Order: sequence, then structure tokens, then C-alpha cells
Amino acid sequence: MGFTATERALYSKLRRLLSQPGLLRGNLVEMRRYCGKAGCGCQTNVARRHRSLYLALSLEGKRRMLYIPPAWEERVRQWTARYGEVRAVLERITRQRLTQVERREG
Ligand SMILES: [Zn+2]
Repeated sequence: MGFTATERALYSKLRRLLSQPGLLRGNLVEMRRYCGKAGCGCQTNVARRHRSLYLALSLEGKRRMLYIPPAWEERVRQWTARYGEVRAVLERITRQRLTQVERREG
């Protein structure tokens, strides 16, 4: 059983994705918080609450929220986006093979 043409394209995409550094599972979650400082605009104005970013993921069944400093946001976004793409490609490969099994092809 060899590769189908579609699979070949998907594997090639997967290799391309995996050749780049950085892969991270999890969802970025934005929180808006009050700082508690007297006179700060966040006390009265919801729009002026302070934004902070967290990576939410479950590890060994436990949900974790990891604070992401602003300087790390861009890379972490790239890594989590890449993880999503890899996962989507794996899912498509799985569907391809599943169809083959169902049709008893190959
Ligand atoms: Zn504040």
C-alpha cells in the first residue's frame, strides 16, 4: 500500500510544517483585569482594564494557564498556530486512510 496522490501532498505539507522550529499545543486566552491602583482608569472604565495573555492547555489531565509576557506573544502565537496546522493535516491524512479502509481499497 503506497501513498495516494492526496496523501503525498499532505505528507509534504506536514514535513514543511515540521521543518520550522516551534510547536505548542494550547489556546491563547486574553484576560482583562483591574490592577487595584488608585486613580487608574481601569477602576471605572471596562475598556481600560489591563490586558494579559495566557496559554491554556491541559497536561496530564490538569488544566494549566501559563502567563505569556507581551514580548513572547508573537512567537507563542506562531507555535500554537503551527500546532493547529499540523493537527489539521494529520486529521486529513486519517480521513483519507479511513476512507480506504471503509472501501477496502489498497
Ligand atoms: Zn489599572
